[in-house]
Amino acid sequence: MKYVYAFDEGRGDMKKLLGGKGANLAEMKRIGLPVPEGFTITTEACNLYYEQNETMGDDVISQIKTSLSELESRTGKILGGTQSPLLVSVRSGASISMPGMMDTVLNLGMNDKTVQVVAELSNDERFAMDSYRRFIQMFSDVVLGIEKYNFDNIFDDVKESKGVIQDTELTADDLRGIIQKYKQIVLKHTQQEFPQDPQVQLLMAVEAVFSSWNNPRAKIYRQANDIPHDLGTAVNIQEMVFGNRGDDSGTGVAFTRNPSTGEKALFGEFLMNAQGEDVVAGIRTPKPVSELEQLNKAVYDEFLSTVNQLEKHYKDMQDIEFTIEQGKLFFLQTRTGKRTAASAIRVAVDMVDEGLITKEEAIMRIDPSIIEKLLHPTFDQDALVSAQLITKGLPASPGAASGKVYFYSEDVVNARARGEKTILVRMETSPEDIEGMLSSEGILTARGGMTSHAAVVARGMGKCCVAGCHEVKVSEANRYFTVGDMTFKEGDEISLDGNTGEIYKGIVPATKVEFSGHFGRLMEWADEIRTMKIRTNADTPKDAKTAVEFGAEGIGLCRTEHMFFEEDRIPIVRKMILSRTTDERKQALEQLLPIQKQDFYDMYLEMGDRPMTVRLLDPPLHEFLPHEQKDVEALAQDFDIEVKVLENHIKELSEHNPMLGHRGCRLGITYPEIYEMQCRAIAEAAVDVKEKNGCEIELEIMIPLVGHKKELDILRELAIQTVEDVFNKRNTTLKYKIGTMIEVPRAALTADQIAQSADFFSFGTNDLTQMTLGFSRDDAGKFLPIYKSAEIYEKDPFQSLDQTGVGELIKIAVENGKKQKSDLKIGICGEHGGDPQSIQFVSKLGFDYVSCSPYRVPVARVAAAQAAIALK
Ligand code: PEP
Ligand code: MG
Repeated sequence: MKYVYAFDEGRGDMKKLLGGKGANLAEMKRIGLPVPEGFTITTEACNLYYEQNETMGDDVISQIKTSLSELESRTGKILGGTQSPLLVSVRSGASISMPGMMDTVLNLGMNDKTVQVVAELSNDERFAMDSYRRFIQMFSDVVLGIEKYNFDNIFDDVKESKGVIQDTELTADDLRGIIQKYKQIVLKHTQQEFPQDPQVQLLMAVEAVFSSWNNPRAKIYRQANDIPHDLGTAVNIQEMVFGNRGDDSGTGVAFTRNPSTGEKALFGEFLMNAQGEDVVAGIRTPKPVSELEQLNKAVYDEFLSTVNQLEKHYKDMQDIEFTIEQGKLFFLQTRTGKRTAASAIRVAVDMVDEGLITKEEAIMRIDPSIIEKLLHPTFDQDALVSAQLITKGLPASPGAASGKVYFYSEDVVNARARGEKTILVRMETSPEDIEGMLSSEGILTARGGMTSHAAVVARGMGKCCVAGCHEVKVSEANRYFTVGDMTFKEGDEISLDGNTGEIYKGIVPATKVEFSGHFGRLMEWADEIRTMKIRTNADTPKDAKTAVEFGAEGIGLCRTEHMFFEEDRIPIVRKMILSRTTDERKQALEQLLPIQKQDFYDMYLEMGDRPMTVRLLDPPLHEFLPHEQKDVEALAQDFDIEVKVLENHIKELSEHNPMLGHRGCRLGITYPEIYEMQCRAIAEAAVDVKEKNGCEIELEIMIPLVGHKKELDILRELAIQTVEDVFNKRNTTLKYKIGTMIEVPRAALTADQIAQSADFFSFGTNDLTQMTLGFSRDDAGKFLPIYKSAEIYEKDPFQSLDQTGVGELIKIAVENGKKQKSDLKIGICGEHGGDPQSIQFVSKLGFDYVSCSPYRVPVARVAAAQAAIALK
């Protein structure tokens, strides 16, 4: 088995095996870019490491050694050599990028001897010492597990005692002293000298990168981004080039387009006389890449043309790392650039206009779930006028966030658990802060640029972030920050504008984003391509309006019970439930009829000629029962009965397991007058719309929770009679369909029979999941996180369809239903109707439509287009 590939043995399409970084380095080499030599240890070697109880196999070690010798002959340098020592970087690189989550070691190969040779060869003792001390620090942190602050403290103490501010002001002698102190720390912590044999250093570093695949922050990142845990990371060993070899050297990162807005303009930062970690860690604030032109025009021009070449080659926005070593340019990495939702859309649309990609490719580029992020709010412009501006930082990740400030990740997590909205404020963030970043509304950092950890990670999360805000002086230990003479303590409220970088005192109200421009065009393309219809779940004209604005083509689920919760109706609904005779119930229903009719009329008007599936009453009745004493008393008075009698009746109606109780069509079977009233209200509202507004609606009435064909037969007959009765009385007619939800496993299994009595099926996958898995919808939240972390179910099955189990039932139902009735219309209206993976699944089964909540309609439009492309 081949576990190690030289860069010139790989290709860009070998990401799974070589990781993203390794595959791209190979590809850059292939197209002739200046890339330092090196080799990649495969993800399979990492997986083997875990299979063998975290040990490196002999085969892997011997292949590393062989590749090292080849690298040595290619570069003419020897690792640990005393003539021309080779120094290498050791970097992780998974097939899916996980920025900053795993470990890296630079300058490996340094030891007490090679440092002298490097000093002589470079004629720069300071540079050699600085590289050695950086190496000891990184190696000790990453490989030996000695925390970084031990070294930072020494470094800062020396700087202070020398009275210098910049790292570059320390002399070679200062650094030599620091190295001695660093080595003592290593001895103290490990009881061993700092390893001097570079071959040993190399194998230890490779092993450390493998084990960093499973460090807690990498695991959390994978969980948050749905990255499988068994991919493993590759390790790249690459000859070092140095950005810290004086003022004609430097290092930087650049995006070929703006990762926040998508604008077609090179966007990058660099630092002269520095190593890559200085830029990414945000310790020094870098300069915009355009300033490189003044410093070295030839390098800048070469940089620009290579960057353009890279973008054209990959046909996507690239995130590039480069180093200039004594005036010579090297490319150390290129990868698909992480970007905000807005940027992703703009880049995709622009690239279609530029002829780089097709509309289909543009659609496939968009992760549908990011679209929801676009719908995130921005601050209300009017409110901003009167808001108190505190200061301004860099607009690192767009959005608008308000909340209480906290300074530690765990405090944010705890505050979130208490239901608070929070802003994480840090000097700068590091991968340890990942949980706090996830739990906060937004992130504010005092240091760091647009490519700092905070900025990159927040953009990936779609979270608002203001970075590099120098006026903010943070005292993390004392849990406050100041701006001028203002102090903000833990718990004080602030607002961040990720679009401008502005920071405001207190909470600023926010509003929704516009639907136009690039976004609108992408959505039009999605609509041209997709074959499934997108409907929405909406119960109020307001929701219906929002959904139509988002592109909904109809309502797939109007839950009528939600209409009953309003304050003026609930007493009448209670009366209906607690009636002891049919007559009493009919009286209450008489009162409800005009109200329901008005509800449907308003909904029909809002939807115009778009279809609307109205579902008859479904939820457990106890949800409507009075709980407060005053409500019980009022109702008893209304019924003219004693409070005690009513209390007993309420007790009788209570159920042990309401989710499996007297709900859905069971209500219609036991109290047909309820469904009759609802059908009458629907039909009358539709006739009114026809007469008053000239709009011919085709009614769609849906019966919930059917498990047996006979239930549907009885209720279908009731619905037909009621609707026909209305039409006769009004001397008119309209088309209508009567269908059923498929949400009880028995219904799915007997779909051929059910289809005989149904004009359409709508899969209620919330209940179908509940009943198939035997997980209560109300209680599963308590144990599902453990199920997810134990990877029993990779995703919450109530959010993303359990395709193996619930999906199998759906398949059976669709097949048997269609066999019985080939023109049976089929849709889905459970939560899964807005989940991209579930949409993909139902698309393959030939569904006619999906129905989801209004804010997910645009997500579903794109996901449905992707599903159509995938089926082609
Ligand atoms: C369902 O069960 O999937 C459904 C849409 O109905 P509800 O969520 O109202 O039970
Ligand atoms: Mg249901």
